[in-house]
Order: sequence, then C-alpha cells, then structure tokens
Amino acid sequence: MELPTYTPRKRIKRKVCQEPGCGKTFWGHPIAKYCEEHSDIKQRQKPKKEFDTLEMRNMLFKHNYLDPIEVPFKCCLDGCNNSFSIKVFPKQYVYPRFCLEHRNDFKRKNFIRLQNK
Ligand SMILES: [Zn+2]
Ligand SMILES: [Zn+2]
Repeated sequence: MELPTYTPRKRIKRKVCQEPGCGKTFWGHPIAKYCEEHSDIKQRQKPKKEFDTLEMRNMLFKHNYLDPIEVPFKCCLDGCNNSFSIKVFPKQYVYPRFCLEHRNDFKRKNFIRLQNK
C-alpha cells in the first residue's frame, strides 16, 4: 500500500506575526513566526526580559553572618507592605524578594494589575 506523498512546498499556513503589537497575518511555513517586515531582525523590538525570571524574583543580600539567622524583610513589590522573615545562611546571598504571597507568580501579577488601575 502506498501512502500519498505530500510536497513540503504546500505546507504553507496562514500565520499571525509574533511581534508584539504587529498582529499582521501572513502566509508562511509552520515554523515561521514573523510577517515579512518583522522577519528582518532589525525591525523587531528587543525581547523584553520576562518579569518572572529568576533574578526578578530574587535579590542579592550581602551579609557576614556566620550562623543561620532569621532576618526580617519587606516585600519588594511596589505597594505591598507585607514583611516576612527569611532564614539567612552563611555564604548564601540569594534570597526571595517578595513576601510569601507574592512569591506566587499569579498572585504577584494580579497585584500589579490592580495597582496599575
Ligand atoms: Zn509583523
Ligand atoms: Zn508582597
């Protein structure tokens, strides 16, 4: 039994440009992401750093403690006054920036959305 053969050239699809704010539709390969204009990398915006990268969620806390100790911090989220305590360990300098509630990406984004209203 023979299977029908597909010519790869026919696999062109209607796509939506992935460039933020563009939204143009175009015909392209299934892997194509950008319209004709934005397939030129110079026309594209620099990719924004996602808010929820690790650096954004954490802070560098320099200290000289030699024993583990609980240190009180304030949530780094604008408009949130929650405080929380972190157990700080010797020679460990990266700690969460946000209160327990705002360490949750969804809750944090929701809080920011409400703040910007
Ligand atoms: Zn585009
Ligand atoms: Zn908070």
